[in-house]
Amino acid sequence: MRYRPVIGLEIHVQLSTKTKAFCSCPADVFELPPNTAICPVCTGQPGALPVPSEEMIRFAVKTALALNCKVHKYSRFDRKNYFYPDLPKGYQISQYFYPIATEGFLEIDGDEGKKKVRIRRLHLEEDAGKLVHEGDSITRASYSLVDMNRCGVPLIEIVTEPDISSPREARVFMEKLRSIVRYLGVSTGDMEKGALRCDANISVVDTETGRQSNRVEVKNMNSFRFVERALEYEFERIVKAMERGEDVERETRGWDMATKTTVSMRGKEEESDYRYFPEPDIPPVVLSDEYLEEVKNELPELPDEKAERFMREYDLPEYDAKVLTSSKELAEFFEECVKVVNRPKDLSNWIMTEVLRELNERNIEITESKLTPQHFADLFKLMDEGKISIKIAKEIFPEVFETGKMPSQIVEEKGLVQINDEKLIEELVKKAMEQNPKAVEDYKAGKKKAIGFFVGFVMRETKGKANPELTNRIVQKLLEGK
Ligand code: ADP
Ligand code: MG
Ligand code: ZN
Repeated sequence: MRYRPVIGLEIHVQLSTKTKAFCSCPADVFELPPNTAICPVCTGQPGALPVPSEEMIRFAVKTALALNCKVHKYSRFDRKNYFYPDLPKGYQISQYFYPIATEGFLEIDGDEGKKKVRIRRLHLEEDAGKLVHEGDSITRASYSLVDMNRCGVPLIEIVTEPDISSPREARVFMEKLRSIVRYLGVSTGDMEKGALRCDANISVVDTETGRQSNRVEVKNMNSFRFVERALEYEFERIVKAMERGEDVERETRGWDMATKTTVSMRGKEEESDYRYFPEPDIPPVVLSDEYLEEVKNELPELPDEKAERFMREYDLPEYDAKVLTSSKELAEFFEECVKVVNRPKDLSNWIMTEVLRELNERNIEITESKLTPQHFADLFKLMDEGKISIKIAKEIFPEVFETGKMPSQIVEEKGLVQINDEKLIEELVKKAMEQNPKAVEDYKAGKKKAIGFFVGFVMRETKGKANPELTNRIVQKLLEGK
């Protein structure tokens, strides 16, 4: 590969605090009617004074520690000034000169193995409101509405170094970050709802000439898939320009879902000058050693540690451990199951395939499903006792998942109990042999695959209920003429 992408991310994480960053309005405003969660502070009325939320600072420190950052005992808020109708104060409170944390890293499974992506800084800031444009492109109203509910909702911004080497790595980074903020309980990490937002910077290096393209910023990607796709698209676009001996503009582009392309939003030269200066209404944030120690002790077991423990404690392959710990809830469900049925690898196989498929199809979390460890205890017992084959077990699983009924109940209701009656199976095989002398000859001529034909016949006749191992044995026995 002659051309190599260089990618750095700027990520906003919306914190799940009870209140907004600097007032006592609720922070979870996603479903509230417009302008019902506002007050003089978050709408910037004259004389209103901001008071930072202690929970917000704690959440930022937690995240910073989980991302291996240096947490600073002294940080400060600054005003970032700009004019836009969704920003009633005319500035955003942010941290510019003295961010709460810097110099961390997040280890990801990179394209060439494990890799540390360095984090340049992590700082606190408040969100802005939202403009609502009535109508579509034809019925567009001549006015816009403003919803200030989101004003003052606490965010952390995380800026990485340009250490990411492919669109896939960018997606993997985002997924890992989401997993961590969810483990920490500091954010829902929900990209569709805007709780996790990502701006990606990408440039391309020509490894033959050493030439590096301009850097392009891509915004508006509200899913992991779009982060990857938008960056793939942009990489191609930049490479094409370089191949023509040209360069792309240094600009900000947005991902357009409809056309699956990126479109220019604004050139770099239009970038505003934010005239940052220290926020005079909020004293510096000073953290003591005891406080930092206390927060450190509150950190839960994080995905990497948990995966390592799963490998050690349950003797699982690394792949299984990674999948099971990708979400805290899934990992907890797995451990609950192991307590009830002590067969970690069997459980892992079921969870990684059948369970994850059902969850993904419905786009829900394990905690929202009716599945319990008892379902697996029941299912495994049915299989162990030879009452059902693994094939039937997999067939009834979607119904178990959907209805929460016990597998044994479904097996009974549907009359799915496995057939272990040797006589009956023998008769069926004999019938198949009579009807298909050609297949019998094939077998005798050395085509061992013919076995499958007879097993299939028995399975069809018994609607899949014949014990597969027993059937296999009987077919072989009769074909050998014993
Ligand atoms: P700006 O001041 O324009 O915001 P920064 O230096 O703050 O630029 O970097 C913003 C983001 O751009 C960071 O995430 C950083 O990793 C990324 N970045 C910096 N240089 C490059 C580059 N040459 N190619 C791609 N990304 C880059
Ligand atoms: Mg920047
Ligand atoms: Zn408020």
